[in-house]
Amino acid sequence: MFREKTRVLVTGGAGFLGSFLCERLLAQGCHVICADNYFTGSRDNIAHLLDNPYFEVIRHDVTIPLYVEVDRIFNLACPASPIHYQFDPVQTTKTSVHGAINMLGLAKRTKARILQASTSEVYGDPAVHPQREEYWGNVNPIGPRACYDEGKRCAETLFFDYHRQHGVAIKVIRIFNTYGPRMHPRDGRVVSNFIIQALAGEPITLYGSGEQTRSFCYVDDLIDGMIRFMDTGEEHVGPLNLGNPGEFTIRELAEAVIRLTGSKSKLVHEPLPADDPKQRRPDITRAGELLDWQPAVQLEEGLTRTIAYFDRLLSTGTGHADARRAAER
Ligand code: NAD
Ligand code: UDP
Ligand code: UDP
Repeated sequence: MFREKTRVLVTGGAGFLGSFLCERLLAQGCHVICADNYFTGSRDNIAHLLDNPYFEVIRHDVTIPLYVEVDRIFNLACPASPIHYQFDPVQTTKTSVHGAINMLGLAKRTKARILQASTSEVYGDPAVHPQREEYWGNVNPIGPRACYDEGKRCAETLFFDYHRQHGVAIKVIRIFNTYGPRMHPRDGRVVSNFIIQALAGEPITLYGSGEQTRSFCYVDDLIDGMIRFMDTGEEHVGPLNLGNPGEFTIRELAEAVIRLTGSKSKLVHEPLPADDPKQRRPDITRAGELLDWQPAVQLEEGLTRTIAYFDRLLSTGTGHADARRAAER
């Protein structure tokens, strides 16, 4: 019997996670529409997909309504690194809140299932460790991270209210620090910063003591969990933690990057940014039970793959336009 391809909208599809998601959905036989305003994403991330007749790209800002006919929506549009989301904080809140309203309105009209890429930042500087989905968080509502944290919290509220009030089929995931190839080379996140500094032989910038912790998930594992969750029954709405529970201090991360790159870079201390969470580790019991999922790529392996990507980018200038410019300086 002839079966239509599933039509999937990925907002933020030209970004780091979005581009891998588009790639995986196309490989599964979906028709993918990528909507992105290229604030932090790049055409380079999706250039290899443009020849696929089932891949469509729309330059679009999610704060503006969007009328397309789709079956599923992955709402990833939002800058994710502190430097980028603090660059224009009002726009960051608008992207999360107006973007959620528009995409939920679209889901309501088309009866599409919609997944929200929420974040571990909804737990703020957590007083409970590791973080379980039941924890309500510890967020400063007026600090420099609030545009992101509170925007994402409000988006979660909207998702659950559209679900309760309008019967929209929702899925909310809370993503913990995820890294890999195609991260924006100048977005200031810790993994890309440390790798680029180590490869260039420049000092590695530890903010504060370096004793704060994070748990780092390799991109392939995250995308796998995200797609599995979208495919679960409609009664499973989340929120669902997705991340790698391996917890490291930022100093340990720096030491691992130095070792794996063979770099002679030294560690230097810089001031800790305001409201920087002291510790973060996901409790992924719920995802494990529901999805039969757990991360497969451990830190050393994931870092090795990511280092190979940035090494190629910086030495050959192929790939991300910003990396090319960085390499030319
Ligand atoms: P990214 O910055 O690479 O991707 C975000 C994409 O959204 C970019 O392509 C950007 O151009 C686009 N975008 C931003 N504002 C937009 C707007 N108003 N309209 C349309 N497009 C817009 O970041 P990422 O790491 O790929 O993150 C993707 C999503 O996952 C984000 O929602 C982020 O909050 C969430 N997330 C990521 C992580 C992580 O560690 N990578 C952790 C928690 C949550
Ligand atoms: N919307 C959209 N695409 C659609 C349907 C709705 O972008 O296909 C937007 C619409 O412009 C509205 C928002 O989603 O601003 C919320 O829609 P909803 O139906 O919930 O609200 P209403 O239109 O009643 O304000
Ligand atoms: N960090 C650091 N040096 C850097 C960039 C980040 O020590 O060059 C620290 C940062 O202060 C934070 C951790 O690394 O404690 C993770 O930072 P990132 O911006 O990657 O993510 P988030 O703070 O949003 O988890």
